[in-house]
Order: sequence, then structure tokens, then C-alpha cells
Amino acid sequence: MSVAIARTVSELRAVVAQWRRSGATIGIVPTMGALHDGHLSLVRKALERAERVIVTLFVNPKQFNSPADLIAYPRTESEDAAKLAPLGTHLLYVPDAEEMYPAGFATVVSVSGISECLCGAFRPGHFNGVATVVAKLFLQAGADFAFFGEKDFQQLQLVRRLVRDLDIPITIVPCPTVREADGLALSSRNVRLSPAQRAIAPKLASVLLDTAERLARGSPILPTLDEARATILAAGYRELEYLELRGETDLQSLASLDRPARLLAAAWLGDTRLIDNVAISPIGSWSGARSSLQSEAAQQLR
Ligand code: AMP
Repeated sequence: MSVAIARTVSELRAVVAQWRRSGATIGIVPTMGALHDGHLSLVRKALERAERVIVTLFVNPKQFNSPADLIAYPRTESEDAAKLAPLGTHLLYVPDAEEMYPAGFATVVSVSGISECLCGAFRPGHFNGVATVVAKLFLQAGADFAFFGEKDFQQLQLVRRLVRDLDIPITIVPCPTVREADGLALSSRNVRLSPAQRAIAPKLASVLLDTAERLARGSPILPTLDEARATILAAGYRELEYLELRGETDLQSLASLDRPARLLAAAWLGDTRLIDNVAISPIGSWSGARSSLQSEAAQQLR
């Protein structure tokens, strides 16, 4: 069993045109490859929602801040294809950097407001790279639906803003974070963790979860966040870039829990940077962050 591969924009468009003639709906799942069960959950959702599914594998140089990180990023096309084929994926789109950014390429897509805060403050230019490649992939494929993980929550909100602002006719479908049994969010970077670091890693998710629960029950915001930051460092994380309470859609700071919110964090465990986030329900409509994590875990097991 194998999946067809397109490596150029014209090959991709030829396949899509054929699908369009047959009236099929099309979904796209943008990834950088090195696929794990988190990525595969997006593909499964895409296959439920659309009649034809394209998975893109492109390690986008424009979204890396560090050349060393770009070089070290795993590239595992044949393993990825072997994971996607049995699911029924219809097409892999695997352009190279020259195809995406030919000589003379000069355009930057930038979503202000959402791009500068949180991860954007520590990874200058990262979200311009994401917005530029996502806009290109959407325009190249002309899909009806695109599937993004809540694991990269800031990226998800950036993409939603981008398609609204540029009137790109595509529906963005958010997909819950897939986690290991101990709560650690699946990430292509987890393989870099030593056994000792792997044992510490789930503390990020558990602290976010406990903190979300405490905030939703009325704990004062600033001291509760400070306590959470201290707990993550005490657990063995080397550095905490941020742990913040933000409004769900605009990612602006919140002084009170008067609307749907998200607790987001980025932290370094040795030389590995991990990110995670959990939802918080406003006071009065508490349904439980823990139950939301449990439902994420249940989804993973299905
Ligand atoms: P990446 O290859 O890391 O750029 O991720 C590609 C897509 O997979 C993005 O939409 C991510 O948010 C999503 N993704 C990565 N990890 C997970 C996870 N643990 N659960 C759900 N989606 C994920």
C-alpha cells in the first residue's frame, strides 16, 4: 500500500483539479513530517470530514530561528508515508525549499498582534514564516478544510486570523492535543529527551492542568501563576520562557477570568524546548480542565 506523492505546485494542482471535476471535497493537513500519533489524529479527522485528504511534509526554513535546529529537525519521508498509507491518505505533498521559495522570493505574510506575544517574543520571525508558508499551501492546494492541532495554540489562532483577514475560502478545523498516558503532549522534539528528562517532562502538563483548575475555582490570578512558574522550575525545567493566562481568541493578557481563556507555557528541559496549553472555563461555567484533558486522553485511546 502506498500514497501518491506530488513534489511540485503543478503536480499538486493537476491532482486537485481532477478531484474538483469529480465534485470531491478536499482537506489539507500541513505538517513538517516526523509524524507521530498527534499528527495522525489530524489526518483521521480530515478523512472523516473531507472526501480527499492531502498531507503536506515540508520543513519550512522560514519558521526556524536557529540554523542548527533546522539542520537537526528529523526528516523521515518514507516512515511518514508508511504511517499515512494505511489510514487512506490520498496525496502527500512534499515540495522542497526551492519549489516553495524560488530565487527572488520576496513576500512576507505577517499577522500582527497574535505574532509578537508568547512564542513570538522568543522566536523572532517564526510566525511570519508560519503565516507565509500556510498562506502559500492554502493557495496552492485550494482545499475546503485545513486541520491544525491545539497543541500549537498560538499558531492555530494565527491561522484563523490569517484566513479571515485575507478572505481565503477554507474552514480551519481545530484538533485536540494528543498526549502520552502521563499527560506529556506528543511532539517531534520529545525523542531528544534523555530518560531522566522524559520523567520530568509531564510536569509541565500537570502544573498547567492544576493551575487551570485552581484559577477556574477562583484562585487569585497573579500569585497562582507565580506558584505555577516556581513549581515547573523546581521540577527540573532549566528555563521557563513564559507561563501566561490569555484570552482564547486574541491571546491578550487577562486581568480576570471573564471570558474563555487559555493557560499557555513554553519551557526548556535541557536543550529541548517544550510548549503546552490547556483551556480554562470562565468562573460560573466550570466544566473542569481535568475532564477536558481526560477527554483528550480518551480520544487518543480511541
Ligand atoms: P508540526 O509538524 O510540528 O508542524 O505539526 C503539524 C501539525 O500537527 C500542527 O497543526 C500541530 O499543531 C499538530 N500537532 C503536533 N503535535 C500534536 C499533538 N500532540 N496533538 C495534536 N496535534 C498536534
